[in-house]
Amino acid sequence: MRRAVVSWLFAVVFLCNAFVAQAADKHPGVTIYATGGTIAGSAESSTDTTTYQSGVLGVDVLIKAVPQLKDIADVSGVQVAKLNSPDVSQAVLLKLSKEIGKKLAEKGTHGVVVTHGTDTLEETAFFLDLTIKSKKPVVIVGAMRPATAISADGPMNLLQAVSAAVDRNAEDRGVLVVMNDRIGSAFYITKTNATTPDTFKAAEQGFLGTFVGDKAKFYYEPAKPVNKPHFDVSKLDSLPKVVILYSYQDEDVALLDAAVANGAKGIVFAGTGNGSLSKGMEDKVVELMGRGIPVIRSTRTGSGWVSDIDTGIPSGCFNAQKSRILLTLALAEGANMDKIKRYFGM
Ligand code: ASP
Repeated sequence: MRRAVVSWLFAVVFLCNAFVAQAADKHPGVTIYATGGTIAGSAESSTDTTTYQSGVLGVDVLIKAVPQLKDIADVSGVQVAKLNSPDVSQAVLLKLSKEIGKKLAEKGTHGVVVTHGTDTLEETAFFLDLTIKSKKPVVIVGAMRPATAISADGPMNLLQAVSAAVDRNAEDRGVLVVMNDRIGSAFYITKTNATTPDTFKAAEQGFLGTFVGDKAKFYYEPAKPVNKPHFDVSKLDSLPKVVILYSYQDEDVALLDAAVANGAKGIVFAGTGNGSLSKGMEDKVVELMGRGIPVIRSTRTGSGWVSDIDTGIPSGCFNAQKSRILLTLALAEGANMDKIKRYFGM
């Protein structure tokens, strides 16, 4: 009898140990959605950081290159696309938003990471920020140097992105952009430098946090940007066309006509200064607004709040590329002119 009790106790202790060991091995689940970009880029030479081929390496190669990921997360990869980011289409945006939305609803998912080319990273980040409803971390990351470069920034950026995706402090902050040791809000951040790794910034709103090694350090408690809308795209298969026109002295009014003739349902101007336009363009904007085609007046200056001026809809805090995403989603929802104005903070 005593022997039976002792063996039973041994069995219980053994099972408990096995359970504890298994629990210790189990890391939070993170899915990495790869879309291409320089982070997956490959060049002929290790000093070539500009004429490489973007997006050629698969997500499995990116994950393998950072064995440290295994120490912090149970990582799996999904290859969504292998694109240079100017080629990211509305179809890719919709696919990403829908798939990530579903993945975040799974119990085993702690967060997701999207790898992306930096040139249009802010557009995808903003789109996801406005269309995904979850408190779980969604982190978008890229690199300025291809994987083949000396001091490639991709591996550390990826480790930091996954580290943010498993971090409870990263929850309920909207989509995060992790690049170059910094954490930014997808709502505000923009690419500010064509070639250097220190490129993603929000001049007015700043960063949400930084990294010390692979540990995220946040400066603030979670906060929601003012006037942040949500758009449900789960049932959409396509989005309306919105184009951006860049303003300059003596601008050509015919470009606006061409955009509308080519199917644009909305126009965004990267206007001069506080969104100002030439007299000819002003007249055209009045006409288009009268025909129910919204025209957003953003600024080519790189920062600042575009305020209410004579014609069109001022973009508020949104640059032209973010304005395009917001107007696209508003039009897809069927918003009227007044609602569109409210989305832009009027
Ligand atoms: N052309 C690349 C892209 O956006 C640049 C980068 O990823 O840094 O895909």
